[in-house]
Amino acid sequence: MIKRFSIPLTMFLFVSNAFALPLNSSVPGGVAVIDIGGATEASFNHDNVMTITENGKNYAILGIGLQQAPGDYYLEVGKSQIPFTIHTADYPTQRLTIKNRNQVNPAKAELERIFREKKEMNKMFSYFRSEEKIDLEFFLPSEGIISSEFGLRRILNGQPRSPHSGIDIAAAEGTDILVPSAGIVSMTGDYFFNGNTVLIDHGKGLITMYCHLSKINVSINEEVRKGQKLGEIGKTGRATGPHLHWSVSLNNKRVNPRVFLQ
Ligand SMILES: [Zn+2]
Repeated sequence: MIKRFSIPLTMFLFVSNAFALPLNSSVPGGVAVIDIGGATEASFNHDNVMTITENGKNYAILGIGLQQAPGDYYLEVGKSQIPFTIHTADYPTQRLTIKNRNQVNPAKAELERIFREKKEMNKMFSYFRSEEKIDLEFFLPSEGIISSEFGLRRILNGQPRSPHSGIDIAAAEGTDILVPSAGIVSMTGDYFFNGNTVLIDHGKGLITMYCHLSKINVSINEEVRKGQKLGEIGKTGRATGPHLHWSVSLNNKRVNPRVFLQ
């Protein structure tokens, strides 16, 4: 049922990753896995970066924004800096047509709500909650067809929009959505673009988002376990049909969820 990995493999830099580390993909929209020696804390552009210990080695797990320019950068580790390179990625283009013009160019009255929701969402994505054990091996939260990949450059009714910040899984309304990794529900709500939405905080700046739900089965501050049902697929908010929009955010950068699917 689920479409296979369709992103060109040349996009990723493979290293000999330990079992529980995410795929090292130092590209815009990817995740860089950086050996930080004896250090246990790291930051990039003044943002806290997730660090983990795996097989006795310490790593920074850095989310790279889709808008980040490729090039050479430094990760701040205590008083020293570790150089790393962000390579180029090539994401395809997708053209979409949406009939409800109000959702393409929202009316003035809606703009205030959209702005408020964007601010709220951004605040949620910037949380950095300390957590000892983080399960970085996700599974696809719902069964269905991948109808839109992460990073697609979208043209909506002829107008270029921001690239796709998650992956879309299309399935019948009411299909179960399962928690792909343990965490705490940090937000639930009904949003203009995203419809019924759930955010799960997995710790150290790793936050996942589930949108357009027809039903939400969890509540705010609830501790959720891997495999637990969090809701059902729907088409609330801006959606052309029933699907799950699934986003993974790391240090407040939306990254390719496939990095965590191994
Ligand atoms: Zn989507």
